[in-house]
Amino acid sequence: MARAGGPGTDTARQDFLTAAAAAAGATTAPDLAHAQAHDHGAQKLPSDVALRVKSLESLLIEKGIVDSAALDALVDAYEHEIGPHNGARVVARAWVDPAYKQRLLADGTAAIAELGYGGSNGVDVRVLENTPRVHNLVVCTLCSCYIWAVLGLPPLWYKSPPYRSRAVIDPRGVLREFGTVLPEDIEVRVWDSTAEQRYMVLPERPTGSEALSEEALAALVTRDAMIGVAKAMPPETGIRS
Ligand code: FE
Repeated sequence: MARAGGPGTDTARQDFLTAAAAAAGATTAPDLAHAQAHDHGAQKLPSDVALRVKSLESLLIEKGIVDSAALDALVDAYEHEIGPHNGARVVARAWVDPAYKQRLLADGTAAIAELGYGGSNGVDVRVLENTPRVHNLVVCTLCSCYIWAVLGLPPLWYKSPPYRSRAVIDPRGVLREFGTVLPEDIEVRVWDSTAEQRYMVLPERPTGSEALSEEALAALVTRDAMIGVAKAMPPETGIRS
């Protein structure tokens, strides 16, 4: 379901990125690990979460519930194959191929699969086109639904309660904190992802990029631009962060 966001307010801004980082830190028991490291000289202990994950993994392998090779393959895929570079290729193709763009906007799942990305059974992907009049922003207010196949793993802030609530309440304020300041006459649309329905933003092709190759265009497309908190980078800065 889409929720159209209205103009932003100038009420006190919360730094949700800081809040998200603080919330994540609170779950890793850094004080304990830190104290233990001091007790044992230069010895560094893994975080509490890392130890718990390792224990859980060992138990699942020991009981034959999961296969360690399958786990390794999964981790390797998310580290090397799956990520926002896939989504960037989709966007760049849409920028250079009007027929592909049409298919992408009509049926995101099928058009993304044309480029070999998919694997999310039962997930319907809708691609939202940014235009000079409309800017789209994606959130999952309930949890962290995200298009893994083309964007990889979601960033910490995407999963944070402040982003999830404020993207709906004050989308322009959130965009400003990402450095994206939109004129008041541009309509901001906020799209709430679910397990079955996920969204990806097709950012506007930057001006001055007319002569670039499809590959060079893909380098201008960031993860944040495909979530909608940023625009695609201008050609002269074409280094993805
Ligand atoms: Fe979710």
